Amino acid sequence: MEEVYNFSAGPAVLPQEVKSIVQEELANYRQTGMSVMEMSHRSNPFQDIIDEAEALLRELMNIPDNYHVLFLQGGASLQFSMLPMNLLTKHKKAEYVLTGSWSVKAAKEAEKFGDITTKISSNDKNFTYYPTVDLTTLSTDLDYIHITTNNTIEGTVIPSIPDTKQIPLVADMSSNILSEHYDVSKFGLIYAGAQKNIGPAGLTIAIVREDLIGSPIENCPTLLNYETYSKNQSLYNTPPTFSIYVAKLVFEWLKQKGGIAAIEKTNRQKAGMLYDFIDQSKLFHSLVKPGSRSLMNIPFTAESDELNAAFIKQAGEKGLVNLKGHRSVGGMRASIYNAMPVKGVQALIDFMESFEKANK
Ligand code: PMP
Repeated sequence: MEEVYNFSAGPAVLPQEVKSIVQEELANYRQTGMSVMEMSHRSNPFQDIIDEAEALLRELMNIPDNYHVLFLQGGASLQFSMLPMNLLTKHKKAEYVLTGSWSVKAAKEAEKFGDITTKISSNDKNFTYYPTVDLTTLSTDLDYIHITTNNTIEGTVIPSIPDTKQIPLVADMSSNILSEHYDVSKFGLIYAGAQKNIGPAGLTIAIVREDLIGSPIENCPTLLNYETYSKNQSLYNTPPTFSIYVAKLVFEWLKQKGGIAAIEKTNRQKAGMLYDFIDQSKLFHSLVKPGSRSLMNIPFTAESDELNAAFIKQAGEKGLVNLKGHRSVGGMRASIYNAMPVKGVQALIDFMESFEKANK
């Protein structure tokens, strides 16, 4: 096999440049005589790493000063619980916009802590489009409105961020954080698991507006209270140190590439190339309505389960790996996160073209 292109939905492809630096620094980090893996989270070198990681993320996303950046664990799934435990405490009411299986899971967890409405949903068409977030149908005393900016499984993205006025907007940004420009000040809270556009699994990032911290449910466990992290610079207990280190390197890589504006341009180019091919193909079809199409996760299908299986197998033999679609959607899915090079997408399109010719 020549080059391998990893289209996994997550954990996912990391920049080659970042992996090379990790390799160089692995055993002896900057003359400390030890690996970052072996380093105390209270040591100066690690303090520098976490400070730089936070500063870089703030710079890349232009995060206003009245927001805390928290380095957490437990994945985005733990945020499904932690979020209502901290924010669903005043009116105990929230709207969860249902746009895919992850939002359904998020809403289910929140129901344990209050009254959840799901008035806005694309469930009627199997989550193949992004519904309009129309606030007029919603109650005005909600503690927050929850959206998923990018639906990893279904391959949809929110076309524009709604203005939710006085109601805090909360976003699960796990699969498209850092891939396109978002104005952080429009959100009350953003959370994301790291294992797609940030770094290795084990780290979860939350960006939380200051005023939303500090009124959790009664008897909230210490480690599920955002305040524990905001008051202790995410160092109340041992954070996922190595994942934070790699995330810092990914942030540096992204900054060198020109930041979010530059990567968004490349991401639009990559998704555009793949969608242009799919839309003219007689064999492959898109499952997602134009206008709702994700730049990160592109599900598609051939005409039969047999052809899908043959495609996935033959693609794998060519080094185009992890193209199997999620079991709830079927077919194929190409996840083309920030670190997927344009030539990886081109290699996929070239193979799709030859597969189509061979299976006319
Ligand atoms: N939300 C979204 C949008 C996701 O894509 C995922 C993971 N693929 C999750 C939540 C769950 O993340 P985790 O596995 O980190 O709990």
